[in-house]
Amino acid sequence: MASRYDAEIDDLSGLLGDLPAYRSRQVFEGLHKNLASPQEMTNLPQDLRDLLETALPSALREVEKTVTDDGETTKWAFALDEKSAIETVLMNYRQRVTVCVSTQAGCAMGCTFCATGQGGFFRHLTVGEIVEQYIVAAREAQPRRVTNIVFMGMGEPMANYDNMMAAVNRLHHAIGISARKITISTVGIVPGIRRLTQEPLQLNLAVSLHSANDVRRNELVPMNKRYPLSALGDACMEYVETTNRRLSFEWALIDGVNDTDRDIKELVAYARPLKAHVNLIPLNPTPGYLVRGTSKERVQEFFSALNEQGIMTTVRNTRGSEIAAACGQLAVPVSFSRPPV
Ligand code: SF4
Repeated sequence: MASRYDAEIDDLSGLLGDLPAYRSRQVFEGLHKNLASPQEMTNLPQDLRDLLETALPSALREVEKTVTDDGETTKWAFALDEKSAIETVLMNYRQRVTVCVSTQAGCAMGCTFCATGQGGFFRHLTVGEIVEQYIVAAREAQPRRVTNIVFMGMGEPMANYDNMMAAVNRLHHAIGISARKITISTVGIVPGIRRLTQEPLQLNLAVSLHSANDVRRNELVPMNKRYPLSALGDACMEYVETTNRRLSFEWALIDGVNDTDRDIKELVAYARPLKAHVNLIPLNPTPGYLVRGTSKERVQEFFSALNEQGIMTTVRNTRGSEIAAACGQLAVPVSFSRPPV
């Protein structure tokens, strides 16, 4: 077991030595609802607290914690084992508190502008490793409560579908996060979108589009060669029609690459039938991709052109760019991938 949050309530009795049902419930609720560490669960006998601590250890070892945006953004780098590390981000806004979680250590999708993609893939995260990221961030956020969870950290959530969805179910059923406040992002893994369409929970879907032209998208998002725009559009349409949920397209604006008038035209034609909301993300610099983000003036022009043509658009506030925690920037530096000393 990788994390104490991997255990379902029915597993606890076996793992902690034949617990009566009410004790299992106390442990499960203490961990998930009260965000408590074993020693903080004062309703449990001391020997059970000690056993919980040693038999079901925590999976995330903090190797770095960085706070920026006047204390409103916190980013953690966690070591999972000797080879793998991940990052988690907590963002406090006036109206909401959002946690961005990782689903894989590294990523195999290879998007050219993304720091994580440049670093390669290590492994899938377990259910508990995903849930534990939320727990750490939610403890930090107190006394505020986490309202939103975005699966937009390191990795492609659809490539680790079963664990991702089990974590979503735990966050919703055991912790009480509204499904409508949970967003799953993808580069456009069509079978994953189709599975998500069949889920009973009303989750949000965010597709990292970045180009509505197959030639250019093949370069930015190599997975487009497998699931081109027409197949992606069909899956998105089925999602929207079946779930009635909002679809959003993420678009990292790159100077001279996907911010031209032609890009606007192609994006409008692609987004309109899907009634998709577009999030524009001024590209953040990453070490392995030597291009510039779009200028502020051009971001504004791009934004206005989309809105004028009826496409609901927002410019994403690139929270935490100075600590490399903004979108497409989650990549633990190589030194963090080694076992912490
Ligand atoms: S943008 Fe997302 S899917 Fe693409 S390489 Fe980066 S983490 Fe993976």
